[in-house]
Amino acid sequence: ANRSGKESNGGRIRIAVRLRARNAEELLNDADFGDYVELMPELRRLRLRKNSWDYETYQFDSILSETASQKRVYEATAKDVVESVLDGYNGMIVAYGQTGSGKTYTLGNLGEQDASERGIMVRALEDILTDISTDKDTVTVSYLQLYMESIRDLLVPESENITIAEDAKTGDISWPRATSAEVKDQKSVIELLQTGETNRFSVNKKLKTDASRSHAILLVTVRKSIQTKAERQQATLNENGSSMQILKGQNAATVRSSKLFIVDLAGSDRADKFGNEGIMLEEAKFVNLSLTALGKCVNAVAENSTHIPFKDSNLSRLLRDSFEGTSKASLIITIGPSPQHRAETTKAILFGQKIM
Ligand code: ADP
Ligand code: MG
Repeated sequence: ANRSGKESNGGRIRIAVRLRARNAEELLNDADFGDYVELMPELRRLRLRKNSWDYETYQFDSILSETASQKRVYEATAKDVVESVLDGYNGMIVAYGQTGSGKTYTLGNLGEQDASERGIMVRALEDILTDISTDKDTVTVSYLQLYMESIRDLLVPESENITIAEDAKTGDISWPRATSAEVKDQKSVIELLQTGETNRFSVNKKLKTDASRSHAILLVTVRKSIQTKAERQQATLNENGSSMQILKGQNAATVRSSKLFIVDLAGSDRADKFGNEGIMLEEAKFVNLSLTALGKCVNAVAENSTHIPFKDSNLSRLLRDSFEGTSKASLIITIGPSPQHRAETTKAILFGQKIM
């Protein structure tokens, strides 16, 4: 079906596809095979070739070719969501795709050699810090890993039993035991993401698994002090009079809080690729369960359903606040260029299509 996400859901969910450039090995080995995927960025379409005479066409909100820069990807997929978070709404930016297709590069790359290679996490935090005034407002970050339904704190990996708490009255979700670190400038952002990356590596080594079997979730909470209209008017009225009262007006400012989730999902790879016994199969089952649960929630949001089935997995429970009616979501489907990626690409494209 050639429907666009924007038309069918009022812009609450945008879905993009990003094709990774061929690496050196692929350039060497795939030269004779041609492309199984054909991008039409202006039309926001792509074609998957089934064979030399037959192909299927799919429509998305944006198509990012192998030459799209990290800046361009940020602008096409994340900027809107970040702006909406700064306006006080919750938001979510998620990368979905097979292992090696570029999820972590797209979201988490730190660009330590070359700042132009920085991914969405750094750019989003930079934009947020630029917008707020750090002496009045705060930006705090938690960084979690979800592996086989258990949550680990990527900022302090020794912490045990990170659990999701649900407020009995309001239903609000929180994870009170996870570290929440305040960031003030770009330096502290890079340091914090670096810590998370290092811990992700060591935690997984200890668990005898790798990052492709778990989800990494960066949660950014923005608390902005805003004055209500009445307070602003009061402050203006008082400008000619006593400055004490202006101060009083400022103290009365209310705090508005919003959350941005940036999610580097586990690889969407089919279970049979990982062998079919023991822990690998267990891991694959959990990944599958959580990706399916996320897909259901996002579909429910896209259909403006009032029932979001977020309780099916810890992933969707954690992300619950970003399924609200006022929140914005961006899904980035990352795909590989080589003919051997065809089956996984088809699966990922269909995940994105179901939502539209
Ligand atoms: P995933 O997280 O989906 O498993 P990665 O982000 O780790 O995949 O990407 C696999 C490899 O490809 C990494 O070495 C990464 O640096 C590289 N890579 C991915 N996307 C790009 C890109 N757009 N440009 C350059 N290198 C990329
Ligand atoms: Mg990765």
